[in-house]
Amino acid sequence: MNVLILGSGGREHAFALKLSESNKINHLFVAPGNAGTDKIGTNVNINPTDFKAVKKLVLESEIKMVVVGPEAPLVEGVHDFFLADKDLKHIPVIGPKKDGALLEGSKDFSKQFMQKHGVPTAKYKSFTKDNLTDGFAFLETLEPPFVLKADGLAAGKGVLILDSLEEAKIELEEMVSNQKFGEASSTVVIEEFLKGIELSVFVLTDGINYKILPSAKDYKRIGEGDKGLNTGGMGAISPVPFADKAFLDKVEELVVKPTIAGLQKDGIDYRGFIFIGLMNDNGNPSVVEYNVRMGDPETEVVLPRIESDLFDLFEGVGNQTLNEKSFSVTNKTATTVMLVSGGYPEAYEKNKEITGFDTIDESIVYHAGTTIKDNKVVTNGGRVMAVTSFGDTIEEALAKSYRSIGKIKFEKINYRKDIGFDLV
Ligand code: ATP
Repeated sequence: MNVLILGSGGREHAFALKLSESNKINHLFVAPGNAGTDKIGTNVNINPTDFKAVKKLVLESEIKMVVVGPEAPLVEGVHDFFLADKDLKHIPVIGPKKDGALLEGSKDFSKQFMQKHGVPTAKYKSFTKDNLTDGFAFLETLEPPFVLKADGLAAGKGVLILDSLEEAKIELEEMVSNQKFGEASSTVVIEEFLKGIELSVFVLTDGINYKILPSAKDYKRIGEGDKGLNTGGMGAISPVPFADKAFLDKVEELVVKPTIAGLQKDGIDYRGFIFIGLMNDNGNPSVVEYNVRMGDPETEVVLPRIESDLFDLFEGVGNQTLNEKSFSVTNKTATTVMLVSGGYPEAYEKNKEITGFDTIDESIVYHAGTTIKDNKVVTNGGRVMAVTSFGDTIEEALAKSYRSIGKIKFEKINYRKDIGFDLV
């Protein structure tokens, strides 16, 4: 069977590599892909939100399944587009329709959903410019720090955590009245600050049944010691040592089951991944956010730990037989360290030749922002490659990742040398 993966990051390379292990797959297409996916399948240079171009590719290349990597095509309705088209509606799309994608596309919607279905989360209220003074009054009832979130997608930048009430009021007004984050912040969610340690739990569901995938912790800041600007993610570790069985059992009972049941009650036929951002506060889970796709770089540690046939699981998602599929995960620890372009997450240069990555034997090198130019692999983005390794311990896995990284060269390479520092 031919399968299409939409997206171009390390996440999509990890999907491609895992799916390529299945003997049920004939050919993989990745749109637009990167220099890593080019080695596994065929890259097609189309934008994943250009649904007409996606349709043409699917029909011409006899594609029988579509796996959606990033959130944008889901929020814009790629799954709905397929269901509404007589030539495409029989093709399973791994990723929710627009109604389910709202769990990520609107923070106000996702908070209402959690409250309605009894999923533990921070107390909150939403405000627009029409009830700005009520927003000021709500802020006065909270303790600092104050958490302000733009309702819509804001490229990971729409959340502000502020120490002073004064500042919080100014920013709230900037967001709702002066559109600090454009249309995305015309509604703002204000919520209680949650204490604890953060981690992510991933679920694959066919709308009725689910599998809980390995948990992961990512490292968001550019600087060591988790300092400096936020990035798309600088590294990740799976499993998470502080998420023991007792905690994960609580997550299943208090978060996963009510989330799946809530989707059903609300008539949302959800087929795909749910990424649950959680705070672990003394063993008690509280949901920070839902995302409707896998995380990047978490995918680069979660997927390699799955021993089962990923395509088989996806078929189960498509025809709602996920309960019949076998599912196993290795106990080994996986770590990934992201190599980034110097300057990222601010301005950086592209087109730097990358060498040494193809000589590595003790790690998996997932390409992210890479492309091929004049037969050379060159940098093509801020986050360039994720270097994943296994070990019996975090230390062992990290030692392999860092040894491998020593062999990879490109001008102005940067990476964090302390991934997992807080866990060992
Ligand atoms: P992401 O880039 O993770 O997708 P996002 O813009 O969707 O971010 P959130 O995940 O809701 O926004 O928030 C971003 C980060 O802010 C969280 O990962 C968490 O570290 C912090 N955060 C959000 N809400 C809270 C809260 N209520 N209490 C404490 N920290 C919070």
